Amino acid sequence: MGLFTCRECGGMVSSEAVLCPHCGVSVNRGSAFANARADTQIKPNNWLVWSILSTLFCCLPLGVVGIVFASKVDAAWVAGNYDAARYSAEKAKMFVYMSTGVGIAVYLLTFVALALDQCDIL
Ligand SMILES: [Zn+2]
Repeated sequence: MGLFTCRECGGMVSSEAVLCPHCGVSVNRGSAFANARADTQIKPNNWLVWSILSTLFCCLPLGVVGIVFASKVDAAWVAGNYDAARYSAEKAKMFVYMSTGVGIAVYLLTFVALALDQCDIL
């Protein structure tokens, strides 16, 4: 038997206790741990908006893959699968960056080609 800190009021609570004697919140260890874990989990950005924008304006194939991963983020998060949600968010971000990079490169090359054409260099 030991003591731990109530996550609601900060008072010391016996590890045997079900309710905090100070504030009455449920403190059985399983739920206290689960709640603490849920509290520290910050939902990752799902990148869905950026995936869609990069699909429309940049590189369609890479953007679509980004959308697929982005759509998995929220579903995995709601299911409590935090690691999977973070993994999908990382993948979505990667494909958004790649798609945006390819899009910018294409715009630049097009611009350079048009500029060179104007100058009769090509
Ligand atoms: Zn308390």
